[in-house]
Amino acid sequence: MQNTLDAIRGKKLHLSNFKIRHKVGKGSYGTVFAARHRQSGAVCAIKTINKARLRTRGAEDLVKREVDIHSQLRYRGILELYTWFEDSYNYFLVMEYAPGGELLRALRQEGPFCERRAANYSAQIAAALQYLHSKDVIHRDLKLENVLLQANGKLMLADFGLSVSLPPGTQLYDSCGTLDYRAPEALGGQGYSREIDMWALGVMTYEFLTGRLPFYSEDDAVVRERIVKADITPLPTSVSYLAREYVHSLLELDPCWRLSCNEALLDPWILEHCQRC
Ligand code: ATP
Ligand code: MG
Repeated sequence: MQNTLDAIRGKKLHLSNFKIRHKVGKGSYGTVFAARHRQSGAVCAIKTINKARLRTRGAEDLVKREVDIHSQLRYRGILELYTWFEDSYNYFLVMEYAPGGELLRALRQEGPFCERRAANYSAQIAAALQYLHSKDVIHRDLKLENVLLQANGKLMLADFGLSVSLPPGTQLYDSCGTLDYRAPEALGGQGYSREIDMWALGVMTYEFLTGRLPFYSEDDAVVRERIVKADITPLPTSVSYLAREYVHSLLELDPCWRLSCNEALLDPWILEHCQRC
């Protein structure tokens, strides 16, 4: 596998070098296909991003930033970007293929998860965020659709389309990402930083344990109101005290008091369930 991947990693390639298979997903900018590199037989996923659609949305710079950031990342819990190329109409991002699909689908089919599985998943995401934050990168679009499953059941963070490089001590003010996962400081306009990823981890862990969103409402205005007050729908009493404390420490209004990746990985609930993950 290593050798076959060397035939595509960082190489200047063209669409004709690949045999395109089935569609595996669609996001707001890209359509993703499973593909096989003809010469080496390497399996990969190719995200196609239409240039005209990017232009109409004034988002041409987004792909360049996504490629710049994603191509610097090498960690087993982060989907690898092997290479990219373009033609007149599309950009093509050639990535590691995640055969297990989205974590969202797994939760819908098999959830809510037991505490052991929820803690394991939460720890895997925290470890990937620890790597990302150590590179001064904020993901900014963490949600169950952007966490994918490898063949061995381990998780991988994907979709760096909204990610930014942000030196420590600096803040961002623009609002982006899916409302249900957005942190209070990213809604209030007071500036935000890497702690927003930890809030999103809190939302996802709540979903693992309940199958539901913590601030759910059909009305977006109500969702916003609930987020800025951290008005969480109470966790069922069947959820343990330690799990509850962990989720509440991630869904902490004040970013300074919110768990960091390091703290999340040392949390008693995480340690109880995954000593070696
Ligand atoms: P968004 O709407 O989140 O901005 P996007 O247009 O940037 O999405 P992605 O999130 O990268 O696109 O991909 C869309 C979907 O395609 C994912 O949610 C996932 O279901 C699927 N997908 C993406 N990359 C892969 C991959 N490498 N292997 C398998 N499936 C993938
Ligand atoms: Mg996505």
